[in-house]
Amino acid sequence: MEFTPETYRISDQPQKPFIDPTEIWEYIDEAQPTEETVKKILAKSLNKQRLNLSEVAVLVNTKDAALVKLIKDAAQELKEKVYGNRIVLFAPLYVGNLCMNNCSYCGFRSSNTSAVRSTLTKDELIDNVKALEDAGQKRLILVYGEHKKYSPEFIADTVKTVYGVKKDNGEIRRVNINAAPLEIEGFKTVKDAGIGTYQVFQETYHPEAYKTYHKGGKKADYNYRLTSLDRAQEAGLDDVGIGVLFGLYDWRFEVLSLVRHTNHLEACYKVGPHTISFPRLTDTVDFKGNPEYEVSDEDFTKIIAILRLAVPYTGLILTARESAPIRKEVLKYGCSQIDAGTKIEMGAYTENKVSKQNLNREQFLINDDRTLSQVIDELIEQEYLPSFCTACYRKGRTGEHFMEFSVPGFIKRFCSPNAILTLSEYVMDYASEATAKKAWALIEKETTKLNDEKVINAVKKRIERIKDGERDLYF
Ligand code: SAM
Ligand code: SF4
Repeated sequence: MEFTPETYRISDQPQKPFIDPTEIWEYIDEAQPTEETVKKILAKSLNKQRLNLSEVAVLVNTKDAALVKLIKDAAQELKEKVYGNRIVLFAPLYVGNLCMNNCSYCGFRSSNTSAVRSTLTKDELIDNVKALEDAGQKRLILVYGEHKKYSPEFIADTVKTVYGVKKDNGEIRRVNINAAPLEIEGFKTVKDAGIGTYQVFQETYHPEAYKTYHKGGKKADYNYRLTSLDRAQEAGLDDVGIGVLFGLYDWRFEVLSLVRHTNHLEACYKVGPHTISFPRLTDTVDFKGNPEYEVSDEDFTKIIAILRLAVPYTGLILTARESAPIRKEVLKYGCSQIDAGTKIEMGAYTENKVSKQNLNREQFLINDDRTLSQVIDELIEQEYLPSFCTACYRKGRTGEHFMEFSVPGFIKRFCSPNAILTLSEYVMDYASEATAKKAWALIEKETTKLNDEKVINAVKKRIERIKDGERDLYF
């Protein structure tokens, strides 16, 4: 069956489940990759058209090395076309790890009695935010276990606290959330606190597999979780993030399901997810994933390339669960946002310790514990443009996630200039001498690349104002 928004507009109802495992497996079982079909699909995607489920199924079934290379090359080309070389940076901040659920893969699960449980006090939250600001962070994602203590009002309160923390030139300009699904009223409450994106990962879209991993608490209800971002949309929160925890079930099924979820949101709310996340299962206390579903580095790279091609306008988030070399490799194929300077042990930003060691204090292990400054340094060396931009959301340019993708010249007029300005601020306030030198050279080169005298002059003037001490200038 061909996907058109109309197809799903007829079959999909707001707040009603939309995953049919038989349908998804049929797409996968029927897909026959040939050189001709793969090339046709890649051409469609490079033309910035969304792919339908049967086309995505062809890509996930492609094993021939030469064809896989074509898929990766196309993803790289599309990424450069759509996003240029910008990489948006953020950091996660764990607010509380109390949890009433029992997800077998997670260190915070209720049955893990060895976990050290805590919730940051207001003072601890403020101190952690100050430490993050001191490193140069401007965008955070707040993370919570699922617990009655973490009500929508509590979440909204922590968000407001974070926005209120200003240290020297530091401030947090965008707070995203990764927390349990809420009711419509709850989503309204957190939206009113001024959040950016609300993320809920389905973990696995396969209902039977889902049951085996989620045996306790509210999260055991597959459909309640599946429809959670519909409730966000009903609440007027149109900036949502979806995701899968790769390693729980067959990755091909999950990739098609992420696209199916995107189709559902587009059909019902005329706007797809702002971001897609694709964490891979990492070690945690007393849990071993099923080797059958383990995602190899090779397949992981392919997953990212396929997602880039399937949903060209959506941000793809890559986290520090992955090692530095893998992150470097897959950035090419379409990730637009990464975390940096990540610590996931509760309250760890105020302490000078490496968070990698203590599984009793963490949800899982991370594999990239470089500082923000090390990550920025490496990005610059590879000619990526690090960005802390938060302009669209603060200028009210939300909901139209297609904008940077579909409005001609949007990136050159807004995204790249704002990336240049936020990097200039970072250099003035936080960079080492060595990083500053490289960064100014990159800033000059990127400014010249803007190719429009008016824009170039406006950017240059603002850089001078930043050098003179002004902050938070954006287009
Ligand atoms: N408690 C909320 C929930 O479950 O949605 C939000 C926070 S949870 C701490 C964030 C995400 O971490 C989960 O959605 C899951 O995908 C991921 N996660 C859990 N255990 C993991 C593991 N062992 N390795 C990698 N990611 C994991
Ligand atoms: Fe709790 Fe979320 Fe971990 Fe599940 S994934 S145990 S809900 S923190």
